[in-house]
Amino acid sequence: MRFPTKTASNNEREEFNDIVQKNVKDCYQCLKCSSGCPLTAHMDYYPHQVMLLAKMGLFDQIFESKTLWVCASCLACSSRCPRDLEPAKIMEGFRTMILRDRDQGNVEILDTRKVPRQALIASMRKFRR
Ligand code: SF4
Ligand code: SF4
Repeated sequence: MRFPTKTASNNEREEFNDIVQKNVKDCYQCLKCSSGCPLTAHMDYYPHQVMLLAKMGLFDQIFESKTLWVCASCLACSSRCPRDLEPAKIMEGFRTMILRDRDQGNVEILDTRKVPRQALIASMRKFRR
């Protein structure tokens, strides 16, 4: 884990809370999410570490992490969390913030080859009905 730089601004926290509708401070670091994740070997931060960084407000470290883009949105972590914090949703929340920041968070993107696969899977889940 790198040395912390700065904590999230109030605007970033508000946007994050608005997207995920979860209180990451409820995470008690039981590691069940990470122990069930099939992709930790490829991550720089494990899911429980992402939760810890989120809890500490160290959003920049999460934004720079490759974990967000390695995550396959399989929901294994969410099914195991005893606090119902849905780490997969937390990951998706941070991806959404990055995509919005790049102005890719709207539905007018026509060339989907440039969209990260996690974003496509997440959107299919949201709009499948
Ligand atoms: S399973 Fe839930 S409570 Fe446990 S470390 Fe992961 S997010 Fe936190
Ligand atoms: S949703 Fe992502 S973080 Fe959670 S278990 Fe699956 S790959 Fe790991």
